[in-house]
Amino acid sequence: MVQDDAVVDQSLLERIHDEVRPLIGTGRVADYIPALAAVNARGFGLAVASADGEVFGVGDYRVPFSVQSLSKVFAFGLALSLETGRIWDRVGHEPSNHAFNSLLQLERDRGVPRNPFVNAGALVTVDQLLSRTGDAVGALRAFVRAEAANPDIDVDKAVATSERDNCHRNAALAHLIASYGNLDNDIDAVLDHYVAQCALAMSCRDLALAGRFLVRHGVRAGGGRLLSAADTKRLNATMFVCGMYDGVGEFAYRVGLPAKSGVGGGIVAVVPGRYVICVWSPGLDASGNSVAGVAALEALSAATGWSAF
Ligand code: GLN
Repeated sequence: MVQDDAVVDQSLLERIHDEVRPLIGTGRVADYIPALAAVNARGFGLAVASADGEVFGVGDYRVPFSVQSLSKVFAFGLALSLETGRIWDRVGHEPSNHAFNSLLQLERDRGVPRNPFVNAGALVTVDQLLSRTGDAVGALRAFVRAEAANPDIDVDKAVATSERDNCHRNAALAHLIASYGNLDNDIDAVLDHYVAQCALAMSCRDLALAGRFLVRHGVRAGGGRLLSAADTKRLNATMFVCGMYDGVGEFAYRVGLPAKSGVGGGIVAVVPGRYVICVWSPGLDASGNSVAGVAALEALSAATGWSAF
C-alpha cells in the first residue's frame, strides 16, 4: 500500500462533508422492507478511527443505522479466527460481477459461493459460525460491542423480523447451497442468524472502531489477536476485490482502498496500518453502494493520497 503521511483532523472531515452535500439525499433508499424504506434519506455521517482508537467524525456519525452487509466483514473475520484456512474450501475469494443476491453463479459453482461478501457467501459464514459457537449473531454482537467499547449495540428487531418475513431469495440461496452439501445447520437457523446480523444497528463511530483489527494486522482493540497478519491481508484483499458488489471496479478507479458496503447506506473502508473510515448515507446507486458515501471516500482519498495506487 502506498499513501502519503496525511493526517486526519476535524476540519478535513468538515471540508469533505461540504463537498458532498449536494449528493446527500440523491440515489435510491433500499425499500425491499418497510423498516429500511423509513430511514431519513438525508442522513450523512463520516467517522475516521486511527489504529489506536482516536476518532474524528462529522454529521450523523453517532447515529446508529442498519449495518446490513457490513456485518459480513466482521462475521467472516470471526469465522476465519475460529477455523483458519478451512473456510476457504467452502467459499471463494473472486469478485462476482453479479448482484449481491444473485443465484446464477451458485449453481455453476456447485454451491460454493464466489466470495464471503455476497449473500450466498455470508450464509455459509453464518453456518460456520453457528457450528463453532452455537450462537452466530450472539458471538458477532459480543465481538463488535467489545471492539467499539459500546455495550448498547444490538439487533434492531423490527428490521430483523421484516427481513425474515421477506427473505425468499436468501432462503433460495440457502437451499441451493444445502443441495450441494455446503450447509451443515438447519436452514431456518442459518436464515434467522443471517437476518439478525444484517439488522445490527451501529453508528459510523462504532463501525470505524470495530474495524480496527483490519488495520492492526489482526490485533484486536484490547490487544489480543483475532487473526494472523496473513489472514488479515487475505481479508483486506477479499474486501478490495469483492466488497463493493458489481461496482468494485468503479470503486477501485475512484478510491482504491479495501472497502465493504451495505444496502443500509454504510461503507467501511480501510487504510492499511493507519485508519478505518466509515461513511453512511442511505441513497444508493444501481450497484447498491451509497452515492454520497462513495463520493466522500473519493474526496478523502484525493485530499490525503490514501489509495493502493
Ligand atoms: N439484508 C440484505 C440482504 O440479505 C443485505 C444485503 C446488502 O446489504 N447488500 O439482501
